[in-house]
Amino acid sequence: MTTAPARTELRIAFLGLGAIGTPMARHLAASPFELTVWNRTAEKSRAFGAEFAARVADTPAEAARGADVVITCLPSSVEVESVLAGEHGLLVGLERGAVFVDCTSGDPAASRRIAEQVKKRGVEFLDAPVSGGVSGAEQARLTVMAGGDAAVLERVRPVLTVFGEKIVHCGVVGTGHALKSVNNGLLALHIWSTAEALATLARVGVSPDVALDTINASSGRSNASMNLFPERVLTGRFPRTFRLALLDKDSRIAAGVAREAGVDARLLALAAELFASAHDELGEEADHVEAVRLVERAAGVELRSAAQ
Ligand code: NDP
Repeated sequence: MTTAPARTELRIAFLGLGAIGTPMARHLAASPFELTVWNRTAEKSRAFGAEFAARVADTPAEAARGADVVITCLPSSVEVESVLAGEHGLLVGLERGAVFVDCTSGDPAASRRIAEQVKKRGVEFLDAPVSGGVSGAEQARLTVMAGGDAAVLERVRPVLTVFGEKIVHCGVVGTGHALKSVNNGLLALHIWSTAEALATLARVGVSPDVALDTINASSGRSNASMNLFPERVLTGRFPRTFRLALLDKDSRIAAGVAREAGVDARLLALAAELFASAHDELGEEADHVEAVRLVERAAGVELRSAAQ
C-alpha cells in the first residue's frame, strides 16, 4: 500500500498570480511543499486556493509570515518594491533565515537595493527571473537565471526545480536580471528585424510563406522566425501570452545595463526606443508579437500566410 507523500518542512509563499506566475504556482501547489499564495486582485488568489492545494493570504505580510522561501512574480521591480513596503508589506512578514526569490524580470539596481534592505532583517535575496514563456511554465520547463549567493541558490534549488528545468547561477545579485533583460533585448530585436525582413520581401513580391520557410532553412533564422512568426503572425492569431508593455520594460532595462557597463550597445538602445513607441501606440494589453503590426502598417503590407 502506498501512502500520500508527506508535505515537507519547507513552506513557500508565492505572490503574483499573473500569466506566468499562475502556472508556476500551480506546480508548487502540486509539489510536496506547503504553499501560500497572495495576489493583488483577491478574487484570483481565492479562485486559485479553491482549485489547488494552497492557503490564501490577505496581505503580503501574511503570506511571508512563517515562509521559508518567498517568491514574487510581478510586472517589474517597481511593484516588487511596493509590495515589500507598508504596514502590510512583505518586509513586515519576512522572517529571519528566509530566502526571498524574485522571479520578476526586474531591474539589477533595484535588486541590489532590495537585497540590502532584506539583509538587515536576516533574509537572503536572489533575483531569479525566468524564460520559456507561459507554455514553458505550464510544462515546468522554465530556465531560471539566478543572481546572488551560490550557496543560497543551492538551498532553494529544490523549490525552483518544481517549475524550472535549467537553473543557472549567473553571478552576484542583479546579474540574473541583467541576463534576462539582455536576452529579451535580443528577442525584441529578432521580432522587429524579422518583421522588417518579411515586409521588405513582401514588397518585392516574395510571399511571407516562402520567405519564412527559406529563412528558417538559412542563417537568418531565430526563435522569432521559427516559432513566433509561423504560429502568431502568419496565422494572424497574436495570442496574448506576454504583454508588449513587459517587453518594452525589459528592453529599457537591457539598454540601461549596457549604458551603465560602458558598452556602446546601439541596437539594444534602438530596441528600447522601438518597443517604447509600439507600447505607446498599442497600449497595455497588446501582446509583444503585435509590435509587428507597426512594421506592417508602415510598409503597407500584412504578413499573413496564403492559407489564412
Ligand atoms: P501579468 O501582467 O500577467 O501579471 C502581473 C501580476 O502582477 C499579476 O498577478 C498582477 O496582479 C500583479 N501586479 C500588477 N501590479 C501590481 C501591483 N502594483 N502590486 C501588486 N501586484 C501587482 O504579468 P506576467 O505574469 O506575464 O509577468 C510577470 C513577470 O514575469 C514580469 O516581470 C514578466 O516580464 C516576466 N515574464 C513573463 C513571461 C510571459 O510569457 N508572460 C515570460 C518570462 C518572464 P493582478 O492580478 O491584481 O493584476
